[in-house]
Amino acid sequence: MGSPAAICFEPNRPLAVETVRVAPPGHGEAMVEIVASGLCHTDLTALDGVNATSVYPLIPGHEGAGRVVEVGEGVIGLAPGDHVIPLYGPECMHCRMCRSSRTNLCWTIKPTRDKGVMPDGTARFSWDTAPVHHFMGTSTLSRYTVVPEIALAKIRKDAPLDKVCLFGCGVTTGVGAALSEIREGDAVAVFGLGGIGINVIQGARLAGATTIIGVDITDRKNELARAYGMTDFINAGREGAKVVQAIRDLTAGGADVAFECTGIVPVMRQAFDCCHPAWGTAVLLGVEPPGAEMGFPPVGVRYGRTIRGSYFGGVKGRSGLGRLIDFYMDGELDLDRQITHTLALDQVNRGFDLMRTGESVRSVIHFE
Ligand code: NAD
Ligand code: ZN
Repeated sequence: MGSPAAICFEPNRPLAVETVRVAPPGHGEAMVEIVASGLCHTDLTALDGVNATSVYPLIPGHEGAGRVVEVGEGVIGLAPGDHVIPLYGPECMHCRMCRSSRTNLCWTIKPTRDKGVMPDGTARFSWDTAPVHHFMGTSTLSRYTVVPEIALAKIRKDAPLDKVCLFGCGVTTGVGAALSEIREGDAVAVFGLGGIGINVIQGARLAGATTIIGVDITDRKNELARAYGMTDFINAGREGAKVVQAIRDLTAGGADVAFECTGIVPVMRQAFDCCHPAWGTAVLLGVEPPGAEMGFPPVGVRYGRTIRGSYFGGVKGRSGLGRLIDFYMDGELDLDRQITHTLALDQVNRGFDLMRTGESVRSVIHFE
C-alpha cells in the first residue's frame, strides 16, 4: 500500500515527505491508518542524530492515534475499525515485567524495536525499493503504519483521535508521572514547561498538589501553565537566577517532588538539589544525550532523598491508558489548549522548527 510519510534519511537534514510502500501486517501485527500525530521532543532527538535507538532512514512519530485497517495472522484482540493508540512501550501481559506491578516496562520486543524493525527482524516500510526503518516501533508520521498487537492500545470510539493522539506520549508521560508520585498537599517543582512539563502541571493539580512551581527559560508558556495549575514561576534564563534556592525558599526547605522535563543533565541535578533532603523525590523524565552521566554527592541521598526516572508516566499502555482517556472525556484534563498548532504532513518541518524555538507546546499533524 502507498502511504504519505515523513522520512528522516539522515540526521540534521529536513524531513522529506514521500510516498512510501507499506507491506501488509505480519504475524501478530496490525496496520493502522493514522488520523493525527503530535510532535514530541524525542522525535527531534532522532532528527538531530542524538537518539541512541535511531536507525536511518527512518519514519519518526510516536504520538499518534488512528484506526485499524488490517490485521495479520494470529491477532486476536483487534479488528478493522478499532480505534487505537500505538505504544512505544508495549504490554505483552505475560512477561515478568508485565506481571509486576512495580513497572510499566515490557521489553519483549525491545531488541528489534531499538533496531528499527518489526519482531521478525524486517521493516514494513520501503522507499524506492530500499527499506525504511520504524522509529520507537510506532512511526506515526506515516498515514499507514504497522505495529505489533502488543503495542496497540484499543481505546473508546467516542474519543476524538485528533486530540487523544497526545496520550501516545506527552499527556500520559506528564500526567501519569504526576499521579503516581504526588500526594495531596505536596509542593512540587517542574523543570521545563514543554509538552511533558505542562502535563505534569495539570497532573499535579489533579493529584492535589497545593504549590506547583514551574521553571523555564522563557515566559512564553506561562499563561498556559497557570491555567493548568502552576502557582509560581521561575525564569531560569534570567541572569543570576538562583533556581534551586528560589524553590527551597518557596517550599520552606525543598520540594516534595521535582520533575525534570528537559533532557538537560545540569537541570536534572537542579531537580535533585531542590528536593527536600529528608524525603524529596527527583523524577527524571527528560532523555539525555547518549552516554551522558549525572553526578551527585552520596550525602544528597543519605538522609532520605530519592532519585528516579519515569517512562511513559509509569502507565501500562494497553491496560492503563483507558483510565486517563476517561479523565479527558470527563473534562478533568485539557488537551485543546496545549495543541498550539495543527499542521498538514507537508508542514512537518515547520512543526519541529516551532518546537526548537519554543513557540509551540504541542503541534499536531492532521492526516485528514
Ligand atoms: P519541549 O521541547 O516541548 O520542552 C522542553 C522545555 O524545556 C521548553 O519549554 C524549554 O524552554 C525548557 N528548557 C530548556 N532549557 C531549560 C532550562 N535550563 N531550565 C528549565 N527549562 C528549560 O520537550 P518535551 O516534548 O516536553 O520533552 C521534554 C523531555 O522529555 C525531552 O528530553 C524528551 O525527550 C523527554 N521525554 C521523555 C519521556 C519519558 O517517557 N520519560 C516521554 C516523552 C518525552
Ligand atoms: Zn514523546
